[in-house]
Amino acid sequence: MKDIIFTLHNRLINKEISSVELTNLYIDAINRENHSLNAFVHKNFDEALLQAQAADNAIADGNSDILCGIPMALKDNICSNGQLTTCCSKMLQEFKPYYDATAWSMLKEKGAVMLGKTNMDEFAMGNTSQSSYYGAPVNPLNPDCVTGGSSGGSASAVCGNLAPYALGSDTGGSVRQPASFCGVVGLKPTYGAVSRYGLIAYASSLDQIGVITNGVMDAAIVFDAIRGVDSHDQTTVKSNSATDKISGKIDGLRIGVIKEFFDSVGDEVRHSVENAVKSYEQSGATIVELSMPSLKKALPIYYIIACAEASSNLGRYDGLRYGYRANKYNDINEMMLKTRSEGFGDEVKRRIMLGTYVLSSGYYDAYYKKACIIRAQICAEFNNLFDKCDVLITPTAPTTAFSVDSKSKNPVDMYAEDICTVPVNIAGLPAVSIPCGVDKSGLPVGMQIIGNKFKEGTILNAAYFYQQNFDSAEEWNKGGVQL
Ligand code: GLN
Repeated sequence: MKDIIFTLHNRLINKEISSVELTNLYIDAINRENHSLNAFVHKNFDEALLQAQAADNAIADGNSDILCGIPMALKDNICSNGQLTTCCSKMLQEFKPYYDATAWSMLKEKGAVMLGKTNMDEFAMGNTSQSSYYGAPVNPLNPDCVTGGSSGGSASAVCGNLAPYALGSDTGGSVRQPASFCGVVGLKPTYGAVSRYGLIAYASSLDQIGVITNGVMDAAIVFDAIRGVDSHDQTTVKSNSATDKISGKIDGLRIGVIKEFFDSVGDEVRHSVENAVKSYEQSGATIVELSMPSLKKALPIYYIIACAEASSNLGRYDGLRYGYRANKYNDINEMMLKTRSEGFGDEVKRRIMLGTYVLSSGYYDAYYKKACIIRAQICAEFNNLFDKCDVLITPTAPTTAFSVDSKSKNPVDMYAEDICTVPVNIAGLPAVSIPCGVDKSGLPVGMQIIGNKFKEGTILNAAYFYQQNFDSAEEWNKGGVQL
């Protein structure tokens, strides 16, 4: 069973199970299995049980939302009042915010039960989750392979049935790529559809909170629960219901296939995604072949812009305001130097250095300014493509989940993994990754469906159609809570 939220909701309102009982099932599973998955880095069980009790009371009063009483998990960079939110960094290892992120407070108001915080790459920088201060999460489908990242803990928790759904964040693919590696669904909404208030910033013009679930309908339900205008985030915009658009029919759908996206991916990934496109065509969709000349520039300009913004955002961790402070120092300069040297890991430092370099006066025009110009070109090219089609289908990542010791040591190879996902963030578009087959070793291949701005309903409907008609729903032995 992929979509479980409706089923859980019905069981709760029919009193077949209480939220406290359901929450205890997940707590037991986490206690049993998290030591091998390392999906959760902070547990929130006492408060979760109080939230579950409150949800049971709300259900008894007959005023429950569809998410009321259903447990879930938050990525460790999404603030929750009074609870550790560490970005899996030594720099924030004791940080407890005094406020809730808007996305979390919206869910809490609806009666969600938060089981804990999930593992991630330090400050969301990476695509394997191996830069976590707490060690990497484990891929439930194959412990010798990475989960992907940076929301690897959220993907591991959902794939391993330790949470029905989880929130992640996606700056350049961090929801979609781990979803692809763990065979689950990952939705990155349009920039501005979901408030970023309380999401610890990595690269503000690219960051967006996203959703990880086992099924497509579940992703639509959770997206609808967290979208909306927020006075704390001036970039938020009113958007449309996604669940309303899910009909499971694709009559008249025009699917664009951009050839350049397929050039840089492995054969097995290419074949699986091409087969999925054929399935759509045989079901009545029209396939439009397209080209996007600027695509090859997307990866370098993403890393220029993301690092530039990160170097500015992470300037606040100076040992004075909050976060880690070095123990021994002689003056304020040494204090800051030691605090940042000791508090940040290697990947974060690399990006701060790259970012300050591309913003420095001698290089600003050559790198940052040029990147912004190319960003505008990429946005314009996407805009033109959406005159010719309704959705675009691409692979989510060039490979399936790779071995834990194969790539992560070489940053250039690691960055190349993001080739298919970063263009979407550069243009602020919505995209979803769903499984569409397996490689030779049985690991899932991810297909990415991209839409025009605020077309979450359109991409999720296309994804739902595939899930219902073609997804062979591989039966992996994933453990966790069996419903
Ligand atoms: N892998 C990309 C990076 O390291 C994307 C990360 C993300 O989306 N947070 O920047």
